[in-house]
Amino acid sequence: MGALYCVTIVICATLALARADLDPASRHHWDRRDSDLSGATIFTNFTVKGCRQLSAALPQQAFPVGSASYIAEQNENQNWSQSCVQTPQCLLEPSTAKELSTAIKSLVSSNTKFAVRSGGHMPVPGTNSITNGVLITMSAFDTLSLSDDHTIVSLGAGLRWQEVYSFLAPYNLITPGGRYGHVGVPGLLLGGGINYFGNTIGWSMNSVVNYEVVLANGTIVNANEKTNKALWWALKGGSSNFGIVTRFDMKTYPSAEVYGGLAVFPDSALDAFADACVNFMNPNGGGISDTPTTIDPSIGINPSTGSLSLFGIFFRNGSDPAPRSLANFSGLPASISTLGVRPNFNTFATDGSSDLFNDRSLRRTFYTIGMKATPETARIAYNTFMSGAKALTVDASLFLTYQPISKSWITAAKQKGGDAFDLDPSNGNLMALEFSASWASAADDSKVLGFFGKTAADITSQAKKLGMGYDFEYLNDAATGQNPFPTYGGGKSLPKLQKIARDLDSKGVFQKLMPGGFKIFK
Ligand SMILES: Cc1cc2nc3c(=O)[nH]c(=O)nc-3n(C[C@H](O)[C@H](O)[C@H](O)COP(=O)(O)OP(=O)(O)OC[C@H]3O[C@@H](n4cnc5c(N)ncnc54)[C@H](O)[C@@H]3O)c2cc1C
Repeated sequence: MGALYCVTIVICATLALARADLDPASRHHWDRRDSDLSGATIFTNFTVKGCRQLSAALPQQAFPVGSASYIAEQNENQNWSQSCVQTPQCLLEPSTAKELSTAIKSLVSSNTKFAVRSGGHMPVPGTNSITNGVLITMSAFDTLSLSDDHTIVSLGAGLRWQEVYSFLAPYNLITPGGRYGHVGVPGLLLGGGINYFGNTIGWSMNSVVNYEVVLANGTIVNANEKTNKALWWALKGGSSNFGIVTRFDMKTYPSAEVYGGLAVFPDSALDAFADACVNFMNPNGGGISDTPTTIDPSIGINPSTGSLSLFGIFFRNGSDPAPRSLANFSGLPASISTLGVRPNFNTFATDGSSDLFNDRSLRRTFYTIGMKATPETARIAYNTFMSGAKALTVDASLFLTYQPISKSWITAAKQKGGDAFDLDPSNGNLMALEFSASWASAADDSKVLGFFGKTAADITSQAKKLGMGYDFEYLNDAATGQNPFPTYGGGKSLPKLQKIARDLDSKGVFQKLMPGGFKIFK
């Protein structure tokens, strides 16, 4: 994920120096109301029936095109990828589950299409905005509280991860969220959650003990291990197919000193950096078997200029100032490095929360494939990606990112009650390989996606020939056209997910009225 902004070393240098916290004030735009909108004015400004009906039911929460709140939400909180920006017919900004429930009932009764956006980071057009319909933005759900015994943190669906880490820091606690602080809490938790502590506690979603959800008929329910257990399971990987989550209650864990940071390497280190990535996957001393360690290394190239970007965020839980698991990376001569022992996790996490990671000016996509995490597959991925990228003619920054998910991670996920991914620890270490890209021109969309699709198929076929295939698509990194659900649980999870959705949403509201997002019914 770190691949996405560090297009040049200069930018990375600035990033390393600028550990800016998120400005919580920038999220609080629900406080601004359109003072000119009252009574009849509201009705004349809403041009479609669904919006008029919504504004009648929720006059303080619905905003027409051109209103100050609509413009602010489009400008300040817009989608992370420019290819996802759309023009909703009106905007709805509820702040309570009850308001959201009223909204869902109204949208269903007027048969109005809608999209739901939280952090807006999923770079898949249609998932987090809509042109012929209503955009529900979750920005106003800002609950952030700790249980009396400090074991559970409650997170409103409008939060972003750095706000959570900063809140927990004074208590010396963490909860396993995203590695980049601007990302929204909901999307990441509903699609898995690759985090820094996964080797010991699993995906981020495995630490969610309770969800507050608004269902298709407007009912507000809690889903946890005791109540609505099937829904609790389905929301762990099932994305937006079951309801709109308004609050996530997550387990907390003690935090102490951690080792980590960002390292950027010169172009001359390309071979050595690629070797370090490959060698990390060696189960005998390569680093992947050291459970406190996680890595997020990226190799980037722009085919039109040939310029490279070699960097990564590296992490080890604990105070060891020179972890052996990361020696292959820390031993390379870096042009910039913030690697070192930090007093707590929050201080480390701010590296991923710089505003430089929040540029929203370009078109972007991810693409994901699974394979066993071995030195052989890591080498295949590197060779295939780089040779294909060099032959391409496109002005885009293309990145290959290694995301090893160890067997211990998958075991921990099971021990925490399981999830819809339902991966089998006996399959060994998984590599959730990620491609990502940023580019400016819509004319290049198909070139980038075409390259990723072809490269993914090529790498997968080579891995399978070695008996190192792993049929799993990680939803949070999936691209338009990918279909993660049939890969869950070796194919066994999808029918279960579909049954749960039929039971809770017999009219298919989250399949038809909310057209965006990855769907369990195709
Ligand atoms: C810079 C960057 C860094 C990233 N880092 C990581 C990482 O470290 N680990 C990782 O696992 N992933 C990471 N991701 C991927 C990320 O988890 C997904 O893109 C995720 O969907 C983003 O969540 P969001 O709330 O910001 O997105 P949104 O685009 O707002 O939402 C994503 C999807 O969830 C739906 N949705 C949103 N809110 C709700 C809700 N309250 N109830 C029901 N459905 C809802 C939306 O309709 C949409 O389909 C990263 C992405 C980016 C761009």
